[in-house]
Amino acid sequence: MNYRVLKFGGSSVADATAVSRVLDIVGKESCLGTPVVISSAISGCTDALISGDPALMEIIRNRHLAIIDRFFTGEAREAAREDFLGTFSLMQETAPREDWLTFGELFSTRILYRKLACDGFNAQWLDSRKLVVKGDIPLTYKKIREAVSGSDAGVFVAPGFIASNPDGSVTTLGRGGSDYSAALYAAALGASSLEIWTDVPGIMTANPRKVSMARTVPRMSYKAALDMAEGGAKVLYAPTVAPAMEAGIDITILNTFKPDGGGTTVSGAPSGSGWTGVADMETAPGTTRLTLVGEGGDDMAAAAERVAQALKKDGMEPLSISFGGGNLFVDVVTAVSPVALESIHREFFETVPLTTVNVYIAGFGAVGKALMETIGRSAGAVAERTGKKLVIAGIANSRQYVTDLSGIAPGNAASILEEKGLPGSFTRAVLTEAPRRSVFVDCTPDNSIYLEYEALLEKGINIVSSNRRSFAVPFVKYAAMHNAARRSGVFLRYETTVGAALPVMESIARSANSCEEITSIEAVVSCTLNRIFSQYDGTETFASMVRKACKDGLTEPDPRIDLEGRDALRKLLILAREAGVPLEEGDVTIDPVVPGDLSSLSLEDFYRHLESMEGLFAEEYRTSAAKGCRRRFVAGLQKDGDSFLAWIGMRDVDGKHPAYHLRGTENAIIVRSAFHPYPLVISGAGEGARQAASSLLNDILK
Ligand code: ADP
Ligand code: ASP
Ligand code: MG
Repeated sequence: MNYRVLKFGGSSVADATAVSRVLDIVGKESCLGTPVVISSAISGCTDALISGDPALMEIIRNRHLAIIDRFFTGEAREAAREDFLGTFSLMQETAPREDWLTFGELFSTRILYRKLACDGFNAQWLDSRKLVVKGDIPLTYKKIREAVSGSDAGVFVAPGFIASNPDGSVTTLGRGGSDYSAALYAAALGASSLEIWTDVPGIMTANPRKVSMARTVPRMSYKAALDMAEGGAKVLYAPTVAPAMEAGIDITILNTFKPDGGGTTVSGAPSGSGWTGVADMETAPGTTRLTLVGEGGDDMAAAAERVAQALKKDGMEPLSISFGGGNLFVDVVTAVSPVALESIHREFFETVPLTTVNVYIAGFGAVGKALMETIGRSAGAVAERTGKKLVIAGIANSRQYVTDLSGIAPGNAASILEEKGLPGSFTRAVLTEAPRRSVFVDCTPDNSIYLEYEALLEKGINIVSSNRRSFAVPFVKYAAMHNAARRSGVFLRYETTVGAALPVMESIARSANSCEEITSIEAVVSCTLNRIFSQYDGTETFASMVRKACKDGLTEPDPRIDLEGRDALRKLLILAREAGVPLEEGDVTIDPVVPGDLSSLSLEDFYRHLESMEGLFAEEYRTSAAKGCRRRFVAGLQKDGDSFLAWIGMRDVDGKHPAYHLRGTENAIIVRSAFHPYPLVISGAGEGARQAASSLLNDILK
């Protein structure tokens, strides 16, 4: 015979609606074999019977009657009521109090049996009190086999949980014991299936009532199921595993409320290595043991370290961590156990789905290279922290480009560019190939690449740029780019363009966005001139110091761009515009460090010209020092009535000025607003490819 043992837990028979699902399931299964239905008492019934509380007794009585009234009419209803009420008063009037708890399963299964019979099944009720003899498995199996094989019934219904002692007195198999009853019936009958129908879709990676991210484990070994159960996963009563395993029967745990929603199959198939789930149980008052169940193939010491780190990250320390039998045991104070459970679950069972961020990097100079290196170094940590997976999907230098959505290894970028580089327009390739929401990173010093920005933004491509030339364009062009970004819901970020990694734009935008009226900005942002003026004291000539700065790669390739204030001008335009002032180049008065038109000179002639001016530099230095001041190259914006004055030039700053103490290439941006008596001063390292790269990466991920 092909017996199928189906066990329904308390919530599966809690009320008429739940029971009708059970009937559906039994109906379907009867087409596949002979169902042997084992049921628990209706939910809460056993607890109520144990308490004996009269109010609870009344509730229990009425709940059963309500189920009967829903399922039966006429004579069948009378018979079912009589059956139930007779047993109920038998319990109250004659049974010893300590035996009351054995009645819940009688109530539920008698109703189920009657209903199936009513529906036309050749149903038979089996009295588990007679068939299951606690502690005598061979006898139990013999009795079950005899009772079933001698019958021509098409469906059997038997109470779970209850049994008899060898002396014939009634007993139970322990709280949650109906699962075990089902396993005994299944093993005795050599059933083709053993299904535990409950209120969750199988054995999950943790108790779903405690860990919202818990998910079903589709397959696990008997060993893992047993360890989960013994560790406290109530979904399966631990003694259930042994009879099933010995008889070689798979245990399937399914959800009565979602019969097609999947579940767990527990079988003898080795499931290899890996962690199954984490169970929790209070083992002593105030102490909870979390059991991380594994198959034994894992490095326990490493796992213990992972647990310790995960708990530490969430501010907890375990009482102890130990291991054995492939499992890791973590004892914690019960008060923190819910949090500890979540931490461990997160560490071992939650892989946050990563959002891919495709990055296209234009410009393979110092900054572009540093960015690639930074991505290579920190992509793993970034993914863990932000859930974003960075993929370098394209790179370009001024001559050629490569795109590859499967990702370009940062370490090989240079050689890939050499070998596979295509001539032509990188931005055009990005426009046609890049998925929406990709990030185009402009690390070039290109004057005209900004012309492509609008098309990229319109196409749904975000832009991050360290190229300040792109933002020092006429204001209409600048505004058009921003509008394009706003229209297509993408971002255009360029924090790196002023003060490298300093959060300058962010701070100014915050003030501007909150309508905090900015009254002045002073930007000491020329790294070259800051370094020279913070060191210059006439010992070494100004010209020689410029040469050195140029050699160190600090200046723009042509140092005149810095000395004439053109670089500072771009930064001032960017700052002012960020503050909401539509400043144009022509609005700025520039007082260059080196007067006169020097652009026609060759670089060597230019240096010679600088040398000839040494006397002037020395003189200015002495005058300033005599006043207790230092010389700084400042780009400023100052509110003047309804408009703004903008200027760039040398200033003597005294000891009270925030720029007085700048060292080396440090930058300072000083923002004053109408409401604050003290200025906002942002200062720190203002240059360096690494700083720029980290700032770009921040913009990409923000
Ligand atoms: P039944 O009455 O059907 O026997 P139980 O209440 O005994 O049901 O067991 C099911 C409950 O087990 C679930 O509602 C859930 O709260 C709890 N549980 C604990 N650990 C787990 C786990 N790892 N996976 C699924 N359920 C679990
Ligand atoms: N009704 C019993 C209990 O509540 C047995 C079971 O539900 O498995 O413990
Ligand atoms: Mg149970």
